[in-house]
Amino acid sequence: MSQHQTATGERPASHLFYQSRMRRPLADRAEGIYIWDEHGRKVIDGSSGAMVVNIGHSNRNVLDAMKRQMDKATFAYRLHFENQPAEDLARRLSGYMPEGLDRVFFVSGGSEAVESCLKLARQWALATDQPERWKVISRFPSYHGSTLGALAVTGYDALKKPFLPMLRDMPHIKAPTAYLDRDNLSMEERGIRYADMLEEKILEEGAESVLAFIMEPIGGASTGALVAPDSYYPRIREICDKHGILLIHDEVMSGAGRTGRYLGGDHWNCRPDIVALSKGLGAGYCPLGAMIAHSRLVKPVLDRGGFAHGYTYAGNPLACAAGLTVLDEIERQDLLGNATRIGALLKAELEGLAERYPFIGDVRGKGLLLAAEFVSDRNTMAPLPKALEAHQRVVDIAYERGLIIYSRRTRGGVEGDHFLVCPPMITTEAQVGEIVTILDATLAQLAGELSL
Ligand code: PLP
Repeated sequence: MSQHQTATGERPASHLFYQSRMRRPLADRAEGIYIWDEHGRKVIDGSSGAMVVNIGHSNRNVLDAMKRQMDKATFAYRLHFENQPAEDLARRLSGYMPEGLDRVFFVSGGSEAVESCLKLARQWALATDQPERWKVISRFPSYHGSTLGALAVTGYDALKKPFLPMLRDMPHIKAPTAYLDRDNLSMEERGIRYADMLEEKILEEGAESVLAFIMEPIGGASTGALVAPDSYYPRIREICDKHGILLIHDEVMSGAGRTGRYLGGDHWNCRPDIVALSKGLGAGYCPLGAMIAHSRLVKPVLDRGGFAHGYTYAGNPLACAAGLTVLDEIERQDLLGNATRIGALLKAELEGLAERYPFIGDVRGKGLLLAAEFVSDRNTMAPLPKALEAHQRVVDIAYERGLIIYSRRTRGGVEGDHFLVCPPMITTEAQVGEIVTILDATLAQLAGELSL
């Protein structure tokens, strides 16, 4: 009997809420970009968990900093005490933000961070005498979290549908899937066209009722590392300014350095009003997230009685000590530089694979937030038939061959299989070689099995 089966062969309680076709092994230990299971089998963590473990597993300096903090205090309630790690991390983080974003509100994860952004935006509207503003426009598809508020702005029907009676469904615009378009427009023109969909939606909804627009500057799993044309980003800001609407960047997956800049939006010098961060902030060492807001928004809220929102674990000293040392490691090892260099190398390798496997229709992303999409025809970009379940099979084959990747069957409003390759930012050139060798064999096996 395996250690994680009960005497009756049932899965134990901790597994009961998850449905998995493959019985997952127990993780035994992890180091760098590798994880070993209970049987001693070593696999490459090619998705950094869920794009979380940005600085790699078992970083000695982070573990030591956590141990030092554990010996001092692991909890001090925020209504009774400030704590030094939270203070230091807030100061350091605001140094990585666009100008003016210097109000940091800690939480324990991505959904909490998004929830906090939505609630701050609403309280800003109330504090500035705009009570009619409450709608938050977002993109379809998108993923902003699992709590009811974050789900209300999420563009992912299957996740949202069961809860529709319990939440206020928010308006969506199409994600900027310019790579799928077959028209005579340039990419820049397409970028403007997609951004203008926001203005159309604002006018359709009534500009006075719209509070904010939330987007992932570089898409995560829902779109497969979708990058909009350059023209999209400044036009979105322009439209938000024109209608007095707040711009929220959900950087839960794209932030904390994964794309080679600290924020995904930094590639275009974006100026969001509020940013949501998590995943790479605690980098898997502790649950940690943050909302970082422009002081211009926070001041009226504080003047009108304060931010009516909070979590018991917010600003936990142990989590913040971990986050602070994660930031130290990003700087000490120049991991932004490495994500840029290694990301460019890995992307070039993926493009090389796309030349050899014609069912790869697109390779995209920035830094180490990279994805490849499967198609049945590159000219039309038609997806593979759903029945092939290619996105599942590619993950299973890669795993059997020793590589963890992440996949989904969603793209701009229609179905399509993509997989993400997002190893930790410490990945070396030689390790890119290991990843690509496994991917190559995986794609060859997939092509054979599915007659692609
Ligand atoms: N926002 C984005 C862009 C995400 O990718 C995720 C998680 O994948 C979330 C929010 C929710 O984060 P969490 O699962 O930590 O609540």
